[in-house]
Amino acid sequence: MNSIDEWVDQLLHTNERAGVSRKSFLRAAAVGTMSTIAAACSTGKSTGKKGGPAPVSEAPTAGQPSSETVAASPAMKPQNTTNPEQPVKLEQWKAATERQSGPTPTPMPPDKRVGYAIVGLGHLALEELMPAFAQCKKSKVVALVSGNPEKMLKVARQYGISEKSCYSYATYDRLKDNPEVQVIYIVLPNSMHAEYTIRGAKAGKHILCEKPMANSAAECQAMIDACRKANRKLMVAYRIQYEPYNRLVRDMVRSNQFGKTKTIETVNVQNSDNPAHWRFKKKLAGGGALPDIGLYCLNTIRYLTGEEPTEVFAYQSSTPGDPRFKEVEEMVSWQMRFPSGIITNCLTHYGVHETRRYRVMAERGWIGLDPAFSYSGLKMDVAFAEKKAERRENVSLPDVNQFAAEIDHMSECVLTDRVPFTPGEEGLQDQRIMEAIYKSAKTGRPVKVPSAVKATRGRTASVATNKLDQFRGPLPKNE
Ligand code: NDP
Repeated sequence: MNSIDEWVDQLLHTNERAGVSRKSFLRAAAVGTMSTIAAACSTGKSTGKKGGPAPVSEAPTAGQPSSETVAASPAMKPQNTTNPEQPVKLEQWKAATERQSGPTPTPMPPDKRVGYAIVGLGHLALEELMPAFAQCKKSKVVALVSGNPEKMLKVARQYGISEKSCYSYATYDRLKDNPEVQVIYIVLPNSMHAEYTIRGAKAGKHILCEKPMANSAAECQAMIDACRKANRKLMVAYRIQYEPYNRLVRDMVRSNQFGKTKTIETVNVQNSDNPAHWRFKKKLAGGGALPDIGLYCLNTIRYLTGEEPTEVFAYQSSTPGDPRFKEVEEMVSWQMRFPSGIITNCLTHYGVHETRRYRVMAERGWIGLDPAFSYSGLKMDVAFAEKKAERRENVSLPDVNQFAAEIDHMSECVLTDRVPFTPGEEGLQDQRIMEAIYKSAKTGRPVKVPSAVKATRGRTASVATNKLDQFRGPLPKNE
């Protein structure tokens, strides 16, 4: 069996044969947003092959420049100064054993980027998304929508957005007259996703919608139908599916790196406060911990395996008298059965200190991410049987801004007229499974996940048990 280094090398070798360098591969894994971060990949151990203590640099060895390596001056080659898609090449100065930086970013010129309207200026929009646009290469914010004009004008000034491109919820539909806006990014409470998606599609705009897609499968279907009718793209903002660690785990699971995967355990829990917040109002949130953070357990397992669960079994509970959980649940613990025989254990909770991790358990080893669902700082460990011993490694990839990766994927789909990797159908499927989970918790019995859905473009399709990734678009390329 290969070491992780060798496994990554194999992947790289395949890509290199296709004319893709190691750096490009890692950029591909990161879906194109990591041009400002170190393009190094290392395992936290020494391999005989590479020698030296961790981290093991993956930089080209001295005297063997790769396509990305720049010779030391004065032997620097003349650069293509006109094509902005080519990175600027800089003189190399770090030893080959060190983590290498670059390549330099290749942002699209501002006038060529896809323009976004951000709807709902709350925690996610202001703390994560607006800053993430600075790391996007293909996307820019050109309009804002908010119920709070004072806050909106302040944000508009902070980010250089024209006051004329600031809208209220009442004037939202006027976005149709703003040609700068190509995509509407909906970052509102869950119950508002359906209405603003449908109105946005009617205004002729593509839609990027936060998770959970909506509060019911019926709403999800209506959103899909509205975007299809308007011939607009609809993507659900599943950032984990555009993040390189999870992408690597997915590839290892799909290639049976440690033999067949038999079970996956996932936990996404956190403590919460403020019963007055919309997250604790059933009408606005749709549910408690499950649709908000438990969804990551569900969606990530589906992403890693590519399979769809056929049956679920769940427990749900809330601390009696806790004002936070008068309307929504505090915790859900559930199992899912998949066609290949995989059975998974999932836990989500709103009343315990933060833990966000998973472990994929296969015949000869396991792969763990802890944290797995955080915005940054993901950590990956693997353990596998090697003869009579167990070998443990930690795998380190460059951190990327997951939001920038996800947003740029949407822009790429608009620019090249592609189906997003996480289209509306992906969000609908999660909603259907969550409805089965709630039903199981209520009835105390296992519940079959319905096997037929109204799928893409109006066709009714069965959930075939042998087809992987049936609700996803094409895997993101090196964007
Ligand atoms: P916040 O409560 O921080 O922000 C929501 C914003 O929606 C408010 O600031 C407000 O903006 C607007 N809004 C409009 N109507 C209402 C209303 N009736 N009650 C409350 N707010 C209203 O929520 P988050 O930013 O944390 O979450 C927004 C969405 O993003 C949710 O769907 C959530 O699930 C998702 N999310 C996704 C994450 C991810 O990692 N992908 C992480 C966190 C959240 P304004 O004042 O401008 O009108």
